[in-house]
Amino acid sequence: MWLRVLGSAAGGGFPQWNCSCPACRAVREGSRPCRPRTQSAVAVSADRRRWFLLNASPDIRAQIESFPALHPHDDRATPLQAVLLTDAELDHTLGLLLLREGRALELHATPAVHETLCEGTALLRTLERYCPVEWRPVVPGADVSLGGGLSYRAFDVPTTKRTRFGPGTEQGRVVGYRLTDEHSGRSAVYLPGVQELTTAVREQLNDCVCLLVDGTCWHDDELIRLGLAGKTAREMGHLPIDGPDGSLDQLSSLPIKRTIYIHINNTNPILLEDAPERRLVEKHGMEVAMDGLEVQV
Ligand SMILES: [Zn+2]
Ligand SMILES: [Zn+2]
Repeated sequence: MWLRVLGSAAGGGFPQWNCSCPACRAVREGSRPCRPRTQSAVAVSADRRRWFLLNASPDIRAQIESFPALHPHDDRATPLQAVLLTDAELDHTLGLLLLREGRALELHATPAVHETLCEGTALLRTLERYCPVEWRPVVPGADVSLGGGLSYRAFDVPTTKRTRFGPGTEQGRVVGYRLTDEHSGRSAVYLPGVQELTTAVREQLNDCVCLLVDGTCWHDDELIRLGLAGKTAREMGHLPIDGPDGSLDQLSSLPIKRTIYIHINNTNPILLEDAPERRLVEKHGMEVAMDGLEVQV
């Protein structure tokens, strides 16, 4: 199974258009070692012929062009088979509208996410005027074969983040995906948004070879410190990396071969390759995703 990081930044990308935090300034000025990043999305395949997209970022057009395996072959036949959504956030779903030229779109999403996309953001109702959408309801805990030797199992990720849209159904608002290569039996987990590593969430990480995990913020109060927002990382549904209850301490003890931070906010100092925070992540044997990173599982 192959996982290709198409985009590694959180919503807004790196740099973000309206931001002049230290990291955004550094990447614009070229004053520190760091690379620009597009908004998070991953392509996965077990045969390198049929590819599945984990979330559809607003940068999807450039991301597809950046990866030849996703380019169309005969006429308009695309290797892109379906999109799997972890939630209904705009930075994970706006790219769906940019796929409107397709003949049809197969979309895997929980009923809660589907409802938000129809009734909340109305994104699906707009898309369906252009292109038929085949919705496959995602049921946490159920194994689903995607064909091509790839299967997935979604799992519920509890969050207290308030919904901007819809009734705010608790179940299925956010899920993670455990992807399995049916031939080798090896699994990888995609978890770009996780507020708490609960026992149930940790169970899904058992025996996985590769974990792509929420690296949104270093500090819980990162955006407050920088004067950019009034909310903590946890209040936005993201477990910070730093601190005694942070993800670095909790994850570095797990026997996972590769743990890679993804969905990194532009304020996070791990984006700066000479930052002490970046070195600390690497010292713990963990990695920081960049656009174009490919992992073979
Ligand atoms: Zn996001
Ligand atoms: Zn910034």
